Amino acid sequence: MIRVLILGGTGDAIEITNKINQIPEIQAIASWAGRTKNPVMPPNVRIGGFGGVPGLVEYLREQKIDIVIDGSHPFADRISWNADTAAREVGIPRLLFHRPGWEKEPGDNWIEVENNREAAVILDKQRVSHQVFKNQINPIKRVFLTIGRQEIGAFAHLEEIWFLMRMIDPPEVDSKIPRGEILFNRGPFDLRDEREICTRYNIDAIVSKNSGGSATYPKIIAAREMGIPVVMVKRPPLPPGEQVTDVEGVINWLIDKIR
Ligand code: NAP
Repeated sequence: MIRVLILGGTGDAIEITNKINQIPEIQAIASWAGRTKNPVMPPNVRIGGFGGVPGLVEYLREQKIDIVIDGSHPFADRISWNADTAAREVGIPRLLFHRPGWEKEPGDNWIEVENNREAAVILDKQRVSHQVFKNQINPIKRVFLTIGRQEIGAFAHLEEIWFLMRMIDPPEVDSKIPRGEILFNRGPFDLRDEREICTRYNIDAIVSKNSGGSATYPKIIAAREMGIPVVMVKRPPLPPGEQVTDVEGVINWLIDKIR
């Protein structure tokens, strides 16, 4: 039996794990960080951090893992770098799976930034000069913040902006929380609902990570249709090496490796 560790945290990683479970020569072990209270996960998952690179190296050796599939979210860069380093140290192959990022389309009014801190700078700047976004006439006052809960503190000092913050679980108790309202929900999201949210809350800008995939894309379509500008946070740099962008690609790569 070939033992494959799948690093998860996304719907795609669940699909990858379920498909790998159907390959008779492979025993799949999925790993989830355990951040959300009621995570959606495949069966037989191990939960919790490994303890950095040393912990992961030890785990790979102890569990006699033959191959690592990194199916973590494109913004979960720490685990991806750790997986790259640990797999090289143990001398086993590692494949990085990432769905492609979203590309700007006609009608999109995006400002692309490196991180959430830069996104906050853009929102602050437009308060003073109302022409930061294309066609912007009025100051942006109501922002739909769709970056999850971990980094909302980066926007807490923007007291003149009201934020609608969407997340799965409540923020940590010691988090700085921007002025506004929290909306608890888990993707995939629907275009009709996203349009309705933007209208009901009178949203005049969206902050989004460039996650790629279809589950969270409807807000980007709604923004395009409604002329709402988007501050789009670019993906962090990820380790080089073999990469695929769809679930079938993972399965084909694995079959090539083992047969
Ligand atoms: P991160 O910064 O890359 O990882 C932080 C730490 O969490 C890692 O060093 C590792 O702890 C642990 N960890 C992460 N993924 C793990 C996994 N699959 N199995 C075991 N331990 C894991 O990740 P993050 O941005 O905090 O995200 C946490 C999880 O949520 C990830 O699995 C990611 O795929 C998922 N997720 C993240 C986002 C996002 O926007 N960041 C969105 C959707 C889902 P040790 O160093 O102790 O091993």
